[in-house]
Amino acid sequence: MAQYDVGGRSAIVTGGGSGIGRAVVLELAASGAAVLVADLAEQAAAEVAEAARAAGGTAASFVADVSDVTAVEAMVAAAGELGPLRVAINNAGIGGQAAPLADYSLESWRKVIEVNLNSVFYCMRAEIPAMVAAGGGSIINMASVLGGVGFAASSAYVTAKHGVVGMTKSAALEYAAQGVRVNSVGPGFITTPLLEANLDQPTIDFLSAKHALGRMGTADEVAGLVAFLASDAASFVTGSYHLVDGGYAAQ
Ligand code: NAP
Repeated sequence: MAQYDVGGRSAIVTGGGSGIGRAVVLELAASGAAVLVADLAEQAAAEVAEAARAAGGTAASFVADVSDVTAVEAMVAAAGELGPLRVAINNAGIGGQAAPLADYSLESWRKVIEVNLNSVFYCMRAEIPAMVAAGGGSIINMASVLGGVGFAASSAYVTAKHGVVGMTKSAALEYAAQGVRVNSVGPGFITTPLLEANLDQPTIDFLSAKHALGRMGTADEVAGLVAFLASDAASFVTGSYHLVDGGYAAQ
């Protein structure tokens, strides 16, 4: 159910082929944006773009690894062909190894930091000039509730997500005068392929109980907040970290 108007502009959603990104694509397309579904997974991105078009929206797919600077620049150029780039959701991410810090492999650490943190820098450095040229826009960086609190056996992920929250604040200060708003979103544990691939059922039950609402969230519940932040309804909202966590961090 579209609630916010994002018509007359293009929007990039990285990691748009699955989970939260997929729900965000469908919500933004239903709200009027021409959406570029960017993902590593070609088939998944194409299927999500097709689902958005079947629902009456405008969408195209694009294969891009967000840790590849050249691919990210090509992604931003492709979005500009759909319409002026006014919205970007830097959402692609991975869970990474589950291990205590001293046992964390260097390879896994570097991969998580590259895909979950450095990629947000690569994306914003390409998106911001395009948005300034388009007269302004809204960037939403997908952090996590773990961008504000720790979580055992996930030091790389927690570090990356805290970094995303800080990078968001600095970029918001730097580009406010040019009409670019930058916010981060902190979902609690959301039922998606990323989570299901990393956690067994007893762990899912344990985590559900850590949310005040007693359950995990859905991707659609995150997409609603993202659509608000993307739209002009959030015109006075920038530089902040928005939890959609079922009360996880309230305790
Ligand atoms: P998901 O279902 O696994 O979707 C992530 C998508 O990103 C997948 O299509 C994946 O492709 C793609 N991707 C991975 N690495 C990429 C790369 N280097 N370049 C481009 N695309 C890449 O995950 P999700 O749960 O929706 O998570 C989306 C975001 O929300 C992530 O940043 C995650 O950290 C964050 N988040 C998730 C939760 C949660 O509980 N699910 C909570 C808080 C925050 P492949 O399938 O081919 O790898």
